[in-house]
Amino acid sequence: MNNKIELKGKCLCGAVKYKLSEKPLFTQACHCKDCKILTGSSYVINSSVLENTLITEGEISSTIKLQAGSGKSVRIFFCNKCGSYIYTDYESAIGRLNVRTKTLEKSEEFPPQAHIFTKDKDEWVNLSNINNCFEKMYDPKETWPKESIIRIKEYLNTKK
Ligand SMILES: [Zn+2]
Ligand SMILES: [Zn+2]
Repeated sequence: MNNKIELKGKCLCGAVKYKLSEKPLFTQACHCKDCKILTGSSYVINSSVLENTLITEGEISSTIKLQAGSGKSVRIFFCNKCGSYIYTDYESAIGRLNVRTKTLEKSEEFPPQAHIFTKDKDEWVNLSNINNCFEKMYDPKETWPKESIIRIKEYLNTKK
């Protein structure tokens, strides 16, 4: 299995650029109320990546610790100059970071593989033809591709 790849992304003004040295583990859309406020939109799309595969350049700041739906904390990292959100660090997602999928150059190659918190979904967002919709959260072991489960497990083992 070869996950090595080079994906590029950037903020709106270009001051922050980043690379992913491996493909994301999983991409999902979240329709929860917090993500609506954070994005000013109906939902956010995040790609979960192994923390050591994200290499950024340029000046990035982070928000204060915010409370995530899990009850644990989350920090969001953004470009100092234009404020584009680049990635999110959920305390609950050990060993992983969540890149804002749409900051990737080829973001169309990573459509959401699941939609979560659809209980808060806006009425005009139609997911009737979409599989993997969840009222709230799901169990990754049942929803993520097996290879992604193996990759995160192997990565966490190397950190022990
Ligand atoms: Zn910027
Ligand atoms: Zn959310």
